[in-house]
Amino acid sequence: MLFNKKTTENPKYIFVVGGVISGVGKGITASSIAKILQDRGLKVTAIKIDPYINVDAGTMNPTEHGECFVLDDGDETDQDMGNYERFLNVDLSRVNYMTTGRVYQTVIEKERNLEYGGKCVEVVPHIPMEVIERIERAQKNAEADAVVIEVGGTVGEYQNMLFLEAARMMKLRHPKDVAFVMVSYLPVPSKVGEMKTKPTQSAVRTLNASGIQPDVIVARSNDALDEKRKEKLSMFCNVAASRIISAPDVDSIYDIPANFEKEGLSDILCDVLFMTCRNNRVPSAEQWDVFTSRIHSAKEELKIAVVGKYFDTGNYVLSDAYISVIEAIRHAAYAQNRRPVLSWINSVDFEKDPASVKDLAKYDGVIVPGGFGARGIEGIISAIKFVRENKIPYLGLCYGMQLAVIEFSRNVLGWRDASTREVNPKSSHLVIDVMESQKEKLDTKDYGGTMRLGAYEAYIGKDTLARAAYGTETVMERHRHRYEVNSKYVADIEKAGLVFSGRSPDGSLMEIAELPKSAHPFFLGTQFHPEFKSRPLRPHPLFKAFAEAASKKN
Ligand code: GLN
Repeated sequence: MLFNKKTTENPKYIFVVGGVISGVGKGITASSIAKILQDRGLKVTAIKIDPYINVDAGTMNPTEHGECFVLDDGDETDQDMGNYERFLNVDLSRVNYMTTGRVYQTVIEKERNLEYGGKCVEVVPHIPMEVIERIERAQKNAEADAVVIEVGGTVGEYQNMLFLEAARMMKLRHPKDVAFVMVSYLPVPSKVGEMKTKPTQSAVRTLNASGIQPDVIVARSNDALDEKRKEKLSMFCNVAASRIISAPDVDSIYDIPANFEKEGLSDILCDVLFMTCRNNRVPSAEQWDVFTSRIHSAKEELKIAVVGKYFDTGNYVLSDAYISVIEAIRHAAYAQNRRPVLSWINSVDFEKDPASVKDLAKYDGVIVPGGFGARGIEGIISAIKFVRENKIPYLGLCYGMQLAVIEFSRNVLGWRDASTREVNPKSSHLVIDVMESQKEKLDTKDYGGTMRLGAYEAYIGKDTLARAAYGTETVMERHRHRYEVNSKYVADIEKAGLVFSGRSPDGSLMEIAELPKSAHPFFLGTQFHPEFKSRPLRPHPLFKAFAEAASKKN
């Protein structure tokens, strides 16, 4: 084999930290670094460190923190974990994710169990030591040659200091095996019209104050970095100009690995980490190029409306709340050689102006993603009624499936007040009810990490849309819900024409609802979240089938 991977057997650790401002694509940078190393034949895994106290991302509002990404093992994590899975095409587990809350929880548990042998347990060094232990565990778990660790937040924040301290300690222990990449931002003030390096210079000094010198600077800006700016950064940040990577804005995040390689980033990291992986990319890396070339060549539009409710507040860009859904649509659309055009529709608007629901006719397909609570759901139900009656391709994800069952019960079966216990417990037809296993948790307010979470098996019925899409009898899909289709009503609903084409192995939980092809070109809802398993090189079968049906709509 051509690939003589590295000189030592030591695993390598690459810390990605942010400077100046958040939201400049640190997660995508970390994912892309992991990807270019993977393309050089290394086994790579990635870790996300979130500095907040929450034990996981499950208890945070998506308008404040973005999507909660669910792993196979049920861990509720940050959306960046989704980026890692999509870029690396691997399944990660809870060892790849940590928060301040999670680290402290373990240290306190260990202390209570006398695992520190009577020592005084202190913030330093015991917290950083626990962080290091977790990083090493993730490396072992994946048998990784290289681990990319993204430290959330920006340098200089009080919150991530202990994580930087852990990184510094790792570098001291393994000087040849640890690299630091600073992702920084270079503003171009409109009145000045010139790219400014000073904020990055101060961010590097702040990082220096934590005892860390960056090996590489990824310079994020609207435009490419010129030589002059590289020289300046090099001089004042103490980083060779050749190790300053220009990272201008791009149309597609999937182009970033190739852009990094134009700047020679994987070679640079090989140098910094004393690796001799100086070979070309592994042949399988070309599949990614095929995928990205489609992004640029796809001309014909595929117009998809996403009808949801997490549109109204917070620091987060709206699309962050639904990032996996967006990416899954993109993967599926590009597979059809179509250019996805997404429109965001706040379901509350349909409640204010019911006639506006007919605007949905201009789209090739409609998606209702997951959600919680009562706000905006009547608007969603009227949207579902419209797409069902007007034969517009529909994909409902989790709440989007539950609300499709409610819509069908109300308007086809005539159960006028059909609802879910989540919204109207007094309804005389609770077609969506709380799962038996969830009752006690809700009663005792035991909310954190207690939904039906993670991958479960489902059986797919013969001669259904779902079977045609998957091509298999069983599937594993990721879940995140407390409510389910009420089995009491299943027979009546099926008799009226909605088919439950996916069920849990014991038949008790309805996993997929669909209308037969004779009744509608594509109307399907899933109790699970297929979007979490869609990958650029492996679009999800149900999204693919939906995009195919949407491409055919005229
Ligand atoms: N609110 C619904 C439930 O808990 C749907 C959840 C979701 O869409 N993820 O069952």
